[in-house]
Amino acid sequence: MRQSDYMALEEEFGAKNYKPLEVVLERGEGVWVWDVEGKKYMDCLSAYSAVNQGHCHPKIKKAMIEQAEKLTLTSRAFRNDQLGPFYKELCALTGSHKVLPMNSGAEAVETAIKAVRKWGYLVKGVPEDRAEIIVCADNFHGRTITIVGFSTDPVSRKGFGPFTPGFKIIPFGDFAALEKAITPNTVGFLVEPIQGEAGVIIPPAGYFKNVREICTANNISLILDEIQTGLGRTGKLFAEEHEGIEADLTLIGKALSGGFYPVSAVLSNSEVLSVLKPGEHGSTFGGNPLACAVARAALKVLTEENMIDNARNSGALFLAGLQEIKNDKIKEVRGRGLLLAVEFKPEAGGARLYCEKLKEQGLLCKETHNNIIRFAPPLVITAEQVGWALKMIKPILSQ
Ligand SMILES: *Cc1c(COP(=O)(O)O)cnc(C)c1O
Repeated sequence: MRQSDYMALEEEFGAKNYKPLEVVLERGEGVWVWDVEGKKYMDCLSAYSAVNQGHCHPKIKKAMIEQAEKLTLTSRAFRNDQLGPFYKELCALTGSHKVLPMNSGAEAVETAIKAVRKWGYLVKGVPEDRAEIIVCADNFHGRTITIVGFSTDPVSRKGFGPFTPGFKIIPFGDFAALEKAITPNTVGFLVEPIQGEAGVIIPPAGYFKNVREICTANNISLILDEIQTGLGRTGKLFAEEHEGIEADLTLIGKALSGGFYPVSAVLSNSEVLSVLKPGEHGSTFGGNPLACAVARAALKVLTEENMIDNARNSGALFLAGLQEIKNDKIKEVRGRGLLLAVEFKPEAGGARLYCEKLKEQGLLCKETHNNIIRFAPPLVITAEQVGWALKMIKPILSQ
């Protein structure tokens, strides 16, 4: 079958909730992927940062196969021999006290919302059903009804109401707005350290230090969604480290499994997770032995193979290269570690065309919000490969 045959099948039988680039992939290794006709591409999206460790990392693959041959799912009705060690290793790596494992990122977000609400009632003493959670405009936290209910992106939310109450939306990076939004019923502030889907939006320096202080002063749980920024992407294990702060709840997913399997988790430094009692929350697949074995291997290679340092070094090279591009239609080039973006002015006519041209050159990336291209290759990218990527990107983005 040719690429067009696969595309025709998707068009005929699939729901059309995505508009992918016209490329049908069948194989991946490290930063490279191959389409069904044998053409090779560098992946500069990394499945939205889920394959930070590179495609089909051999050690994660080995762990997955070995575990699949032994035991895959017990449900949490019984214990399994992977969950405890997974908790211990994850806590040791991240300095957390408690873990609650789920599958998708959106489920981790939902879990955190449930936990901080309950904590608000039981510990903080907020009156029943009055808990408020503050979120930011242009956020991306997933696709469930509750989550899209506090999105400000009309495409994400229009037509899906009625929505869950209890959320207040303030501008991102605006500390005064946060101060104003806090009430005695505020239980949490849910925020991305860097807004990924919004186009790699980095908040003003010092913002998160102030956020941390005001949350502590008002007994509010700071919930950092590090599903995209975490696990090395920005050149630190967590993006919060750039700000010198610690969240009360940290949400991770995506690269937690190196792209092999959906695994997410809520990490807690405070006592928030302890308010959840047996029966109050759960997931059939959350914390299953296959997920835990895969995640343990994914975390191990991240540190063992110095991927976080590499994200910092290769990211600096990549950013410097992008900044050399001369084009009046470019509004801004920005990024941290290997989470990079080029934003075009509206008159450039959209970023999609550039992505299509880059695809022809053998480099895959995806536009976000019309005018922005995000570059986020796997964290295993070498300096030489960054050079190759820039050689492809520079002439095209100069047009
Ligand atoms: C991808 C993402 C999510 C949602 O994760 P899913 O696994 O797609 O549900 C949540 N928050 C952020 C910041 C993300 O990038």
